[in-house]
Amino acid sequence: MINFISMEDFSKKQLLNVLELAKELKHNPQTNLIDNKIIATLFFEPSTRTRLSFTSAVYKIGGKVLGFDSPDGTSVQKGESLRDTIKVIENYSDLIVMRNPLEGSAKFISDFSTVPIINAGDGSNEHPSQTFLDLFTIYEEQGRIEGLKIAFIGDLKYGRTVHSLTKALSLFNCEFYFIAPDIIQIPDYITTDLDKKNIKYKLLNDFNEVINNIDIMYVTRIQKERFDNIDNYEEVKDSFVIKKSNLEKVKENLIILHPLPRVNEISIDVDNTKFAKYFKQAANGVPVRQALIGIALNKLNFEKLTSINKTILSTNTVICKNSKCIAKNEETENKYILEDGIKSCYYCGKKIN
Ligand code: ASP
Ligand code: ASP
Repeated sequence: MINFISMEDFSKKQLLNVLELAKELKHNPQTNLIDNKIIATLFFEPSTRTRLSFTSAVYKIGGKVLGFDSPDGTSVQKGESLRDTIKVIENYSDLIVMRNPLEGSAKFISDFSTVPIINAGDGSNEHPSQTFLDLFTIYEEQGRIEGLKIAFIGDLKYGRTVHSLTKALSLFNCEFYFIAPDIIQIPDYITTDLDKKNIKYKLLNDFNEVINNIDIMYVTRIQKERFDNIDNYEEVKDSFVIKKSNLEKVKENLIILHPLPRVNEISIDVDNTKFAKYFKQAANGVPVRQALIGIALNKLNFEKLTSINKTILSTNTVICKNSKCIAKNEETENKYILEDGIKSCYYCGKKIN
């Protein structure tokens, strides 16, 4: 079964395969591709674009949608576990698209679900369908992905879109600049991975150092809802505002991306410059999500995933230390990964010791 859980599960060839399929669907719509299949969209966290673009994608390829856009009014409010919710809904649908605030929750349900799972965001961890549409937009606008220089600006600690896109772009020899105040800089587990792969990156506090030298500017919202301490949010909330006047000397091919929603980090005077591609990026969510659904339902040709050779073990007690991990919040098999003597949580990926 093909699930879309983490960008770590995909090779470069598979990523390009998805982009080709999405391009084909964008230019040659296939209105009966999934032939009345039922897609459940389970959103335990707010969403506008992701849920609606998945819904639009399903309708455009001949499927049907059921689900909810908030846990209010569902049995989750009565204390039902995520496991039980999925064990029920898998009988009502052919594919589950889930957004959930707990990190590792998509991985957890993909272990026992009898229908494929697409992760539409698991807390601060990953957001793979967003990454595919980011890659699609980069490829469409730049004509290549290989070797590009990208600056991520904003909330790099909690920004799951940044985490997933960094993992994907690390397969394409890209160079990274992570620009954020120290308290919301990119997590160590991401830079450790880049070090392992020998990829060039720099951590900076000011975008002016690199703005005229980059091909992609990926701006993100400071995610108030994920801060444990609201004073920390107040301290950094207005750290960056990109204005038209900042773009006078940038490279001709620069594109500015944003997963949206935008708060104030890109001024609206940027919207009608040729660099602004964030609304086009959001529009690309529809063909890209059509491709992901078509692949997960085995309706499109896609090279099978090869299982990555990792040692997976399990214990009787909860050993993950991340309070936002599914393993800390619900009974799981407490699996962990052992790699080069280092233990990490099988679900949320965070180091254990
Ligand atoms: N999370 C945002 C939303 O759902 C954007 C996205 O994920 O596409 O509104
Ligand atoms: N839409 C993106 C997400 O769902 C980013 C955001 O919410 O700021 O992760």
